[in-house]
Amino acid sequence: MKQYRYILNKKISLDQMINEIRELPEYKNGYKALLQVVEQDCDPVPIQRDLDVLKKGLPNVTIVGMTSHGALSKTTHSIRYTVCSILFFEKSDFEVAVYDCHDQTPREAGKDYKVILRGYKHPKAVLMMSSDFSLCPEPFIDCINELEFEIIVFGALAGTKRMGDDKSLIFVDDKIYDRAILAVAFCGDELHFAYDYNLGFKSLGKELVVTKSDDVGVVYEIDNKPAFDIYSQHLGVEMNDYFFENTSSFPFMLRENGHYLARVALDYQKENGALEFAVKIPEGSSVSLGYATDRYLLEESYYNAKRMFGFHPQAIMIYACMSRRMLMGDDLAELEFDLYENIYPDATWAHGYGEILHANGLRGFLNASLVAVGIREGEISEEDKTKEYKDIEFPKEYFVGFKPLSERLVKFLETTTLDLRYAIDQLFKVASLDELTQIYNRRAINHFLQQHIDGLGSEGEVMVLLVDIDHFKKVNDTYGHDVGDLILKNGVDRVKSIVTQKDIIGRWGGEEFIMISPYSSKDKAIQAAEMIRKGVADFDFEVAGNITVSGGVTLLRPGDTIDTVFKRIDNALYEAKETGRNKMVFR
Ligand code: GH3
Ligand code: MG
Ligand code: MG
Repeated sequence: MKQYRYILNKKISLDQMINEIRELPEYKNGYKALLQVVEQDCDPVPIQRDLDVLKKGLPNVTIVGMTSHGALSKTTHSIRYTVCSILFFEKSDFEVAVYDCHDQTPREAGKDYKVILRGYKHPKAVLMMSSDFSLCPEPFIDCINELEFEIIVFGALAGTKRMGDDKSLIFVDDKIYDRAILAVAFCGDELHFAYDYNLGFKSLGKELVVTKSDDVGVVYEIDNKPAFDIYSQHLGVEMNDYFFENTSSFPFMLRENGHYLARVALDYQKENGALEFAVKIPEGSSVSLGYATDRYLLEESYYNAKRMFGFHPQAIMIYACMSRRMLMGDDLAELEFDLYENIYPDATWAHGYGEILHANGLRGFLNASLVAVGIREGEISEEDKTKEYKDIEFPKEYFVGFKPLSERLVKFLETTTLDLRYAIDQLFKVASLDELTQIYNRRAINHFLQQHIDGLGSEGEVMVLLVDIDHFKKVNDTYGHDVGDLILKNGVDRVKSIVTQKDIIGRWGGEEFIMISPYSSKDKAIQAAEMIRKGVADFDFEVAGNITVSGGVTLLRPGDTIDTVFKRIDNALYEAKETGRNKMVFR
């Protein structure tokens, strides 16, 4: 395969590009060709003109494209050129599908597309673009994810020059769509893909919890306060026209499947201080503010691009967020692309208002990132194998010993954040763990139990077990209090080895213990309680020999309070003691 990139308005015109393409050997040989067009402006009239000219001049070439994200800031960081890139496939194939979403949802479109993808031969990856800010492409990607084979999805959400005023657009051949999803499936046994997710933003400050949000991306409250407070308190930002400029370099950070994701707030609601995002941020999500420096962004891209060199791509498609350009400035933003041009000189790029990468635990919609996808047809050639990576030249000011104030301040904040998180961790341990056994104390158990009572129904049934050691007074009297303590410790270690990670265990007081276990049922609860009883009874406590426990088990019920739950398990425990000990009773 082969890729050629053309930057229009800079050196050559659309007509010149068409003439050049017509002279390419791959074009003359009739290779299947895909042209990606990223338009600088959102005016459909000149775009239609371009598309008509392209279709006429290159009738056998399939065209896909989108509008680019232009000026984000009033002092402008816009792309003043149209970027075209043509991919020629020698041994592979691609298929284009487009879904107008005026009369169907992304999920309906995705369900349909899933069936279509199944029909293709060796589908390896899907390039996706969508238009209309209110059209979240994630449900579409979720449908692709339901397939029984792995497939990489990448691309972008089309951007606009003036957010809110312009309409973002995508196009397929000579048709323009203002609310649609396009998907290009790349198929073929010999096709290989490599991808980079470059973020570079780091999480800063305290972790906060989203306490009220909806399904379409509005976050109303964080830590039970209006979401906007996070910006006014931490950044001193006010509600005014410069909201995006002031906040987009400090995205929200959340963790998903081991990856950090950035979420850039698009707007705020004046009346209630809610923040609007392009995708849902579920209630209960832990978020923090993110930050980055030029160096963080560039270093991550530098190392990932270097790794991409080893893949020896024959084409590179980049989808990057404009917020990086705002943070780094135009020169360094171009340098970030240069890192990939250094790997493949005709690498192409697009600025959308969100990047898409669905691979390796990443679930689709991204912000503030740079997604780079390398494509290769066939195995790495012998000639490529002998090539050596050559560094590009970084600007001199990048290496001088003087660190800019912003960088030093960020370093200071970073260290303070680490100190703060360590201190919170220590405080949590002191406040929540039992000193002797190092499992949760009564205060923590009450907290977790209340959480489960509040969230009743959301996680299936929740089991609560109260365990009391049989005749423990006698053990103390016979062997001494120190041996009694050791038995408590060893007994807890024994139980720890039996329970699973989802189980919460704690010391209720004295020689009484609690276990809270979600995803349970009456049968499972009795089974789990029996396992603990038996596990202790079978254990050799050395000096004291065998020890037994009794317990009361229950499941949380609607309307329960901590008191009603304890009354039930306490009564059940009493019955276990009264009817012979070394047994578990369910109530
Ligand atoms: P039962 O089978 O009815 O539970 O008999 P029991 O002797 O275990 O009676 P109970 O549960 O009322 O007794 C609690 C005893 O546990 C009292 C105390 O000697 C002992 N105990 C409580 N906390 C500790 C502790 O931290 N260390 C030690 N060594 N013993 C403790
Ligand atoms: Mg007791
Ligand atoms: Mg006891």
